[in-house]
Amino acid sequence: MVAPVRDHESQHDAIDDLPLVTRSARVTDVTRMDRDRRAEATAAVARWLEDRGVADEYGPVEGADDCRRLSARLGRDGRPALARRVATLAERFERSGPMLAAVRFRTEADVDFLAGQYVGVRYRGTSRAYSLASSPTEEELEICVRRVPDGRLSPRLCTDLAVGDELTIRGPYGELVLQDPSPRDAVFLATGTGVAPFKSMIDYLFETGLDEHAGTRRDVWLFLGAAWEDDLPYREAFRELHRTRENFHFVPCLTREPVLSEWDGETDYVQHALLKHTDRTAVTAGLGEHCERWLREPPRSGVDARIDPANAEVYACGINAMVHDLVRTAERLGIPESRIESEGFG
Ligand SMILES: Cc1cc2nc3c(=O)[nH]c(=O)nc-3n(C[C@H](O)[C@H](O)[C@H](O)COP(=O)(O)OP(=O)(O)OC[C@H]3O[C@@H](n4cnc5c(N)ncnc54)[C@H](O)[C@@H]3O)c2cc1C
Repeated sequence: MVAPVRDHESQHDAIDDLPLVTRSARVTDVTRMDRDRRAEATAAVARWLEDRGVADEYGPVEGADDCRRLSARLGRDGRPALARRVATLAERFERSGPMLAAVRFRTEADVDFLAGQYVGVRYRGTSRAYSLASSPTEEELEICVRRVPDGRLSPRLCTDLAVGDELTIRGPYGELVLQDPSPRDAVFLATGTGVAPFKSMIDYLFETGLDEHAGTRRDVWLFLGAAWEDDLPYREAFRELHRTRENFHFVPCLTREPVLSEWDGETDYVQHALLKHTDRTAVTAGLGEHCERWLREPPRSGVDARIDPANAEVYACGINAMVHDLVRTAERLGIPESRIESEGFG
């Protein structure tokens, strides 16, 4: 039996019916979170060609079209592995505008919300749902927005929005919230901006001492998946927490990053990284060969701690299809539905 993933796609239309918090929230900061890595991509291709002594033959690469042409030629010339790497970089060349932005704003009246909830944000006539990434203890509110190419609102929030602009905020809303305090380990599983509600929850947990229960310290895990390193929202904040809190384990899972840098951390999907960090001696259910292979696989994160499914509660958030996979994996590990909270972004 698969736990239902709360699908909020239909909530878009309902956003304008949510309670009005404030007509005028004022933007106080907009920070681009990803980087322009076109120069890095150009240098990487030049290096690969030079290393193979074929730089003169294949010439310089200056954009996505060059990348695609070069990839096709390399494929025809019997260099399929290099052709694939070059093709992957085409996407990086195409990214110019901000793809990921953190937006802070101040509302007229205080907003009472629970860590993990979302609000309706209206800007220039369009409303969408965004999870609050700030902790309820903070004075200002923050959301983090991933640009959906050709989307109606997210490109404008990433590119046009400026300090001093006004937003209309409705809500707060949503049931993806922390479970009652317990000694269980908290395992957060997210892809991309699905981490926004968890940023709020994790900050809140540590600020208020909820990472301890009746004298027992709980482990708090964050598995965060993305293609590239700079697609990880709040990566520096999570790394800092990982450095300073013994019981916080941050496991970024980057599927494409090794193409562009010396990344030697996890490159697998989040659900596979979860299995790699599970104490396999504590898994009683038969998982099937596919999952058991991942249980046997040694992690590359450098984290020595392991997850005991009998003592864990799980939170999953991101694009619907990915959240389904995450929830299914948690259930196969024997974690009951009552200890799994999830939300899909559509
Ligand atoms: C409860 C909830 C919380 C959310 N929290 C966040 C958040 O914290 N940060 C965030 O960036 N987004 C979040 N979203 C998604 C957000 O509400 C918008 O759907 C998203 O910003 C796209 O809006 P748009 O107007 O730019 O695109 P639209 O014009 O609405 O959509 C264009 C197309 O893109 C598809 N699409 C929609 N969202 C995505 C996506 N995320 N990835 C790929 N394709 C998509 C749509 O199905 C549609 O076909 C959340 C959604 C829900 C329901």
